[in-house]
Amino acid sequence: MGKGGDKGGKGKGKGKGGKKGGKRQVVVEPHMRHAGVFISKKDKEQSLLTLNMVPGVSVYGEKRISVGAPAEEEEKKDGEEEKEKAPDKEYRVWNPFRSKLAAAIVGGIGNCWVQPGSKVLYLGAASGTTVSHVSDVVGPEGWVYAVEFSHRSGRDLVEMSKKRANIVPIVEDARYPLKYRMLVPMVDAIFMDVAQPDQARILAHNASYFLKNGGHYMVSNKANCIDSTLDAAAVFADEVAKMKKDKLKPQEQITLEPFERDHAVVVGIYRPVKKEKKGDEEAPAKKRKKEE
Ligand code: SAM
Repeated sequence: MGKGGDKGGKGKGKGKGGKKGGKRQVVVEPHMRHAGVFISKKDKEQSLLTLNMVPGVSVYGEKRISVGAPAEEEEKKDGEEEKEKAPDKEYRVWNPFRSKLAAAIVGGIGNCWVQPGSKVLYLGAASGTTVSHVSDVVGPEGWVYAVEFSHRSGRDLVEMSKKRANIVPIVEDARYPLKYRMLVPMVDAIFMDVAQPDQARILAHNASYFLKNGGHYMVSNKANCIDSTLDAAAVFADEVAKMKKDKLKPQEQITLEPFERDHAVVVGIYRPVKKEKKGDEEAPAKKRKKEE
């Protein structure tokens, strides 16, 4: 947990902060459940944050918060060299009204499979608002393969990716994964937000090419884009049934109110890998016998 001053504010991230002079203090803490996600607390206000991979740069005008290292408590002794001050960390506010992944996290989703070090295939990247936060979360050891078919949004996505070395922007139709198979390896997770009637099929198709067995998916279902003739709950149930048929085992579903109406995020696992039963010492031997 870091303590420090709110140097947030719009634009260049400058601003007043710190404890001195009775100014309000911002405290940043890691999210209790989701690695790579942070929460800032100031009085009764809380915001979701990610650690900015590119300090000093906002992607879509979001607020930034700098948090300094805690003040050195020991006094400097005579002749002792000045200790180097740990650099400030800069976080970006992640607005749940602008990102379905953020809305799912604020809404209390149990598992977020966008994690530090993971490889994530992101379908429906648009100009990269949420992709940029996913890039912060997976960090320098992870990768985001971001697919968007609109050339207009794709241009912004490509521009943003120039500053973020862990994003591979792909301006293609997610219905044709063969077109980008040379760019995408096997991934740990797929996040999908394409708002299309055939999106369950798009997910299954991409999973069959790129998602490892036991990998996870997170998909945003916007009811009226999938079927405007049914009520939202019926659309969500239909989508889950389609996914099950394609070995995409749903594990959790959360609706996104109050951030989005008639949206649900479904989280699940692809081709779960069977675990050997505990205490079944003979299992490996049995397996060998079978193979002989
Ligand atoms: N996920 C984005 C975010 O949070 O910043 C917003 C995504 S927006 C709801 C849906 C995006 O999916 C649009 O930009 C649209 O062009 C894109 N899209 C829809 N169908 C697609 C497809 N078949 N292949 C690639 N992108 C698609």
